Amino acid sequence: MRRIKLLLVTVQALLALFAHAHEGMWLPAMLTAIQDSMQAEGLQLTAEDIYSVSHGSLKDAVMIFGGGCTAEVVSDQGLVLTNHHCGFSAIQRHSSVDHDYLKDGFWAMDRSQELMDPGLTVTFIVSMEDVTDRVLAGVDVGMTASARQAAIEAASAVVVKEAEQDGDHGAVVRSFNYGLQFILIVTETYRDVRLVGAPPASVGKFGGDTDNWMWPRHTGDVSVFRIYAGPDNRPASPSPDNVPYHPRHVLPISMDGVREGDFAMVFGFPARTQRYLPSAGIRQVMEVTDPLRIAMRKASLAVIDQAMRSSDTLRIMYASKQSGISNGYKKWIGELRGLRELHAFDDRRRDEQRYRERAASSGNEALSATLDSLQDLYDRIAPYTLARDLFIELYYYGPDLMRFAEQARQLAEHGEELEREGKLQAELHRLRQRAEDHFARSDQRVDQAILAAILPYYLEHIAPELRAPVLDRIQDKHQGDMNAFVADLYGRSFLTSKGRFERLLGRPARTIERELARDPGYLLSTGTLDLYRSVAVPNHARLSEAIDAMMRHELAGAMQLFPDSIFWPDANGTLRLSYGQVEGSHPRDGVTYGPFTTLEGMMQKYVPGDPEFDVPDRLIALYRNKDYGPYGVDGTMPVCFTASLHTTGGNSGSPVLNGRGELIGINFDRTWESTMSDIRFDQTKCRNISVDIRYVLFIMDKLCGAGHLVREMQLVHHGADGPHVIPLPIHR
Ligand code: ASP
Repeated sequence: MRRIKLLLVTVQALLALFAHAHEGMWLPAMLTAIQDSMQAEGLQLTAEDIYSVSHGSLKDAVMIFGGGCTAEVVSDQGLVLTNHHCGFSAIQRHSSVDHDYLKDGFWAMDRSQELMDPGLTVTFIVSMEDVTDRVLAGVDVGMTASARQAAIEAASAVVVKEAEQDGDHGAVVRSFNYGLQFILIVTETYRDVRLVGAPPASVGKFGGDTDNWMWPRHTGDVSVFRIYAGPDNRPASPSPDNVPYHPRHVLPISMDGVREGDFAMVFGFPARTQRYLPSAGIRQVMEVTDPLRIAMRKASLAVIDQAMRSSDTLRIMYASKQSGISNGYKKWIGELRGLRELHAFDDRRRDEQRYRERAASSGNEALSATLDSLQDLYDRIAPYTLARDLFIELYYYGPDLMRFAEQARQLAEHGEELEREGKLQAELHRLRQRAEDHFARSDQRVDQAILAAILPYYLEHIAPELRAPVLDRIQDKHQGDMNAFVADLYGRSFLTSKGRFERLLGRPARTIERELARDPGYLLSTGTLDLYRSVAVPNHARLSEAIDAMMRHELAGAMQLFPDSIFWPDANGTLRLSYGQVEGSHPRDGVTYGPFTTLEGMMQKYVPGDPEFDVPDRLIALYRNKDYGPYGVDGTMPVCFTASLHTTGGNSGSPVLNGRGELIGINFDRTWESTMSDIRFDQTKCRNISVDIRYVLFIMDKLCGAGHLVREMQLVHHGADGPHVIPLPIHR
């Protein structure tokens, strides 16, 4: 506790020096310490207004959406805004060639039309409490890493159990700063979240991959959902009997717009940063990880993009997979460039040199040894990091066969046993359903081409002991012709044809076991996974643990040696606030970005019929007539803006708020020149991109005819005579 207080005092005393250095993703517990600095920049609220456990505060309107986005509540009827790309898979799930909600958009005109989505959840934060003292009570310096870990896990389990006692809430203890600090996070998860609306892709994904991570930007990256609860307003399983959720806090919507220099903050769940990565780690990212992932994704995207252009069925089938692959692909290209331009490696080396000098001059030579150990540990972990990257790219982002084959493992290994125990029919039934789903979502020719495209990279880099033995057939059976191997695999495997798979399931358990045991598709998938799990994972885990322990010493040392520096804990998917201002940037020599875009700019990009730059007819008509309703300003329609808010993945969908805590935009991206900010933030370059809330309202109301949703929200305007709520309904 003393340590943390010490840290906060340091932060408070020094933020003045960093008036424009908007690096940092602040934990709620740190807000009191930075409140003065935020207020000096334009915040009109207190830390308690932003985060409070005892009364409604901004945090009660912000939640984790689905697997890893942020969303916010904008009406007392549980209406939720997030990004189009965050709602993407939900929209895709409800789409078919007949109901193409991806392409045409979807709007529920009343509650009965809202689309249930079992599996989709939102999670609110009930409280966050520092439990470092309790968690570390049983830990002492002499402990081995595993004894320390065991003591922490045991103590955390007690803390979690206590917190979950009322049975209503989830709880988790999370580690910060490599285990220097622990926080208990109590959560409440709602499980009935329904799709309410999404604009057509030509608005919600305007600019496509070409514009992704780019500025200037004109994407209406929004989708709308509603949280449903039981009659007691508590989480309930999806059911037609549920009712709209009443939140503790609803974000008002600012109709005042944004001006350059305005205070802005973003509140959400950034997923991961590596702010303290040592030079050896930076080198690994720059020389191995990023270049390899970029190359593999480029190869699979060439296949998928072409397939998607060839038919509507394939376009819908691969939309989500394509977005996931290309998003990372482009981000890493930007990250690599950014790290190179900032000379991130040399820069970190200089930091480390200073660290050594300070350690020596303050009689703490031992601290320098942590840097040497880190270098050594990074050298040793390198092959396993490479193995992990290769595995992730092949298994999770490669052909769907890899994960489908795993479904058959139980049958392949225990088919006869299942039969004896009378469980075979149930397993066959489950597999038939899985197959139905798999073959509906995956085209086998495309899948085959994806494997053929990325396998060369895999084969080139994978260590021999991690290579699935079935890959030897490339040499043994196909004279080194990899394409022949892949074609043979897809032509023969029981897992690459629905008909063959179904026929296989109709055979005796013993035959199924025998067939799968020599099936090339099955062997490629399970062989890759098993070797990864048994060889790479334990080594990677052991060395990562050692790195974390060393990082903990290094960071504690840095806090001691550099009392004038600010140390914010790396993002780890927990609630954070970043603040800064609405501003443009200087991304490159001779290049300046202004902070705003408008519908004019969108129309300048318009290419009729283009998959990325088409514009809906209705939007063109509204534009021609300058029919912007109350959302336009000075004869134009604002679309997006940039601000100096430190964000990362997971912040997608986060509310961007003004100094009064009113919604001014929805965060959805960063500029390409910012993407190295996960490792190195640069004040002149790093900007997040938000869709202006007035454009969101315009899309809903004027473009898509869903004004009834806007009327649920509280739109506020601050005139010369003070604030007033804009009278509703708004007339179109
Ligand atoms: N668009 C980004 C994402 O992929 C958000 C970001 O990283 O800034 O989630």
